[in-house]
Amino acid sequence: MGKAKKIEDPSCSECAQLNCYRHDKQYPSFCATEAVDPALVEQTRTTYAGDDLDGRLARAAAEVEGRFYGKISRCEEIVAFAHRIRAKRIGIATCFGLIEETRLFAKILRLGDLDPVTVLCKIGSVEKESIGIPDEMKIRPGAYEAACNPILQAKTLNAEKTDLNVIVGLCVGHDALFTRHSEAPVTTLITKDRLTCHNPAVALYTLHSYSKRILDAERMRKL
Ligand code: SF4
Repeated sequence: MGKAKKIEDPSCSECAQLNCYRHDKQYPSFCATEAVDPALVEQTRTTYAGDDLDGRLARAAAEVEGRFYGKISRCEEIVAFAHRIRAKRIGIATCFGLIEETRLFAKILRLGDLDPVTVLCKIGSVEKESIGIPDEMKIRPGAYEAACNPILQAKTLNAEKTDLNVIVGLCVGHDALFTRHSEAPVTTLITKDRLTCHNPAVALYTLHSYSKRILDAERMRKL
């Protein structure tokens, strides 16, 4: 196990006060709230209070959080959020491995009077080797294996003029590409984590037990 390094540049992850939330403690010396330009704070506040899409998204998110806190699941929250931003056409950017979950989610969206359209990650069927991925890095070497195509997923949903896009289990990095190219706002239903049944927090909750390997700095540097 490597020793934990002293953190030279602490930020919110090192803060024990979290005073920005309720003003019930003290701000630490390195506080991001105290360091940020007040004009920027005001600019964001005005945006959230305004009538543009950013303001509507911000207030709808807060309303769903406040009204349903701890009472409904994330798939219900997405329906509630879509209703509040007056989204109707919902894009689903799904992973091949989560297509059954996606079928259920699309059914739930329809029950909420929403209009889903799904695009699978393998759309376009571009072979992995044709983009420079060697055969030995395929899941099944020797077989035809299409690469994930999150840019085409986004462009297809852009052409569908979706109002809101939902990620269902895209891989790390593919989700980044999808988000970069999506014209509609993006939220996530499922975050892919093959080892934890798509619950990445499990690795953090079990960091000192079943997931202890993660604390090996030498190993982590080599990942
Ligand atoms: S903004 Fe300041 S008080 Fe809030 S978490 Fe970051 S460092 Fe802590």
